[in-house]
Formats: sequence, structure tokens, C-alpha cells
Amino acid sequence: MKDIESYIREIPDFPKPGIQFKDITPLLQDPDAMLETVSRLIEMIGDVKIDKVVGIESRGFLFGTLLAQRLNAGFVPVRKPGKLPYKTYSEVYELEYGKDTLEIHQDAIKKGETVLLHDDVLATGGTARTACNLIKKMGGIIVQCNFLTELSYLNGRNKLRGYDVESLFIY
Ligand code: IMP
Repeated sequence: MKDIESYIREIPDFPKPGIQFKDITPLLQDPDAMLETVSRLIEMIGDVKIDKVVGIESRGFLFGTLLAQRLNAGFVPVRKPGKLPYKTYSEVYELEYGKDTLEIHQDAIKKGETVLLHDDVLATGGTARTACNLIKKMGGIIVQCNFLTELSYLNGRNKLRGYDVESLFIY
């Protein structure tokens, strides 16, 4: 098997000019690379009991559910507005141009539960920060913000100060 980092390809100018998009679909095609990726993401967490893994729509669901299984934890999706069928809590956040909203089911996290937040990419950090705010409001204890890749030149960590932030591949 090749080095797993080599399965992440960069697509220039997607979805807009100037964005270097990290595409993980080649990694998803290789079962050994997937297994190795899950093991390495788990190693970053250390020996802490996790009650819930929260994955952010949509690529955060891919490894988020695999991590939850391996950790014997529940999986919770955080989604764009109007996608979750039950009662939700929502939070609006600023984008470069405009605003967006994230939602979570009201019964997804109980007060005092330990939570691992996972997404495929940490870019400016706005998305992860918003998910953390929702988890905290519900009384969840965020053990780690866990990412497959981090675009460090966008300084997403600054928005996640106070949390343990770990990324497998930092660019
Ligand atoms: P942020 O809010 O700027 O940190 O953006 C993070 C969100 O945008 C994550 O949910 C990512 O899935 C997505 N994202 C940003 N940049 C990329 C990329 O290069 N590849 C894949 N997803 C990206």
C-alpha cells in the first residue's frame, strides 16, 4: 500500500477559482488505506472514553461513522438546514460571502457526554467552531476536534482555541 497521504489529491480551482480542493475520494476507493486512516485517526485520540462522535455534513460522515464504530460510540450528524427530520438546535455562522447554518438533533447529545468532533478538512474553522458551539450548548464535553486534513494557512485553529485540535495531514 502507498503512503495514505498520497491518496488525497488536490484539485485546483474547485469549486471556485483560487481554491485548492483536497479530494479524499481516491482514499475511499482503497480498503487498506481506509483501515489505516481510521487507525491513525484513533491513535490521535488516545485513551479516552468517547460517548458520541459528531461528524459534519457531508464528508465528516464518512470517517466519522467508522471512528464511532471503532470507539464503540454513537454517531451524530451535524447537517445543513432542513436536512434533519426531528427537532433541532441550530446556529448561524459567517462565511466569506454571506451566512450559513448548521443543525443538530435535540436528543443527539446528553449533558456530560464526551464528544469527538470529526470532519475531513479544517479550513477557516468556521464550520467546526459552529459545531462545537452546538455541542457545548447541549452540555457535551468536547474531548477533541479531529480532522483528516488541515489547511494550516487558513488558521482554522485560531477559531478552535481552548480545544484539543488534531489533524492527520497538515498542509
Ligand atoms: P471551514 O469552515 O472554512 O473550516 O471549512 C470546512 C468545511 O468545508 C468542511 O466541512 C470541509 O468539508 C469543507 N472544505 C473546505 N475546504 C475543503 C477542501 O479543500 N476539500 C474538501 N472539503 C473542504
